[in-house]
Amino acid sequence: MKTALLIDQDHDVRASLATWLRQTGWDILEAEEGETGLALALEQKPELVFCDIQSPRFNGFQVCRSLRAPNGLLPTTKIVLTTSSSYGADKLNALEAGATDYMIKPIMRSDLMHLLNNGATVDDTATRVVTRPANDAPSAPIKPLADMVPPGQMSIRFWGVRGSIPTPGPTTAIFGGNTSCIEVRVDNEIIVMDAGTGIRPLGDQLASEATGRPLALTVLISHTHWDHIQGFPFFAPAYNPKNDIRIIGFEGARDGLLATLSSQMESPYFPIGWQQLPSHIALVEQKELKFKIGSIDVEAAYLNHPGLCMGYRLNTSCGSVAYLPDNEPFQRYKYHSNEPHQAGQTEFLTYARKMDQKLVDFVEGVDVLIMDSQYDATEYQTRVGWGHGCVDDVVALAINANVKKLFLFHHDPSHDDDKISKMAQWGRDFATALGETIEIEAAKEGLEIVLKEQKT
Ligand SMILES: [Zn+2]
Ligand SMILES: [Zn+2]
Repeated sequence: MKTALLIDQDHDVRASLATWLRQTGWDILEAEEGETGLALALEQKPELVFCDIQSPRFNGFQVCRSLRAPNGLLPTTKIVLTTSSSYGADKLNALEAGATDYMIKPIMRSDLMHLLNNGATVDDTATRVVTRPANDAPSAPIKPLADMVPPGQMSIRFWGVRGSIPTPGPTTAIFGGNTSCIEVRVDNEIIVMDAGTGIRPLGDQLASEATGRPLALTVLISHTHWDHIQGFPFFAPAYNPKNDIRIIGFEGARDGLLATLSSQMESPYFPIGWQQLPSHIALVEQKELKFKIGSIDVEAAYLNHPGLCMGYRLNTSCGSVAYLPDNEPFQRYKYHSNEPHQAGQTEFLTYARKMDQKLVDFVEGVDVLIMDSQYDATEYQTRVGWGHGCVDDVVALAINANVKKLFLFHHDPSHDDDKISKMAQWGRDFATALGETIEIEAAKEGLEIVLKEQKT
């Protein structure tokens, strides 16, 4: 005779299942919680296990994983996880944990009979894991709504300017507490640079401007540290099936940009999986350092930051903007390095100077430079090797590169509005002392810069 084990705290649920199963010739074992259930399963090796996901002392997922462990404790036993939750993510979680089936309570006799006769009840189409290909390019070039991108000008708007972690509150009310996100509208494109928490209000703004029409836009990702991607699960346009979203980025230290982006939406961290996002999302893992977004020439450069970070420069019909969100200047790093064989040695400083010069060349003559200036020079001394720059170096770099307007960016979470204002003033005084006319400001949430087309 075949044996079925029923693990459920609810006596009535066990009683119904037991009655129906006995009628079809099954022997029944029962447990009220996961731990005893698991022990019974290992001892009696039943052919069928029903286990409630919300079982005390080992939930259903744990029981399932233990029975399906790599050494295969009960590889052929059919495991049905039962639940009163009908969330799509939990079905996927059950199958991922190794369940053969998933049933939503209350379980009807007919459902049970269907399972026994057909071997499965799970609706495969509802639970299948669809893999979005890494380079699922849209069938046609994406076309933003014309009235949302006025011709003859470039608009650059800051939606998130903070580094590391969001810092809302009265002391950051002027410059803002959202993490990295900048919107650029130019040449019939909407380009969003990074998806920190600032992308949430941007998404709401875009959706309201679209007034129900399909949106098309590009998100450029510098790197996948939290402060640059954490807002994406809250980006309203990603939940509209009419929208085309193209995400462009580079693979970082881990295999696959898709895997990294989607992992922050896995079940333990977020209720909706990447695969469940209804918009058309095309992920383009870029390999070339020069590419195009529509008619805009984009250049990318590696920055000095843990785990790889890209800086971008957009050359448009209305001028150029460079975005270098996280970067630690090489020279200062090498000079202050803790490694005694490196600190201050000529070879290392020569090399560091060469690397910094590369960045100067990259941003040469740019109209707007948005750059990591998280620390002042004193703070930097205790932050060596953290991957961020200080305002003195950034101002010097911008002057050397003939930048027209510099925005200090990636503000430190511990810096209040007063401190940020003082850092910007320090930068301006430094430039004036050098006889330079460069404009310097601290990036500020909500600020928009408009550049007009440069007619030749
Ligand atoms: Zn960052
Ligand atoms: Zn970073």
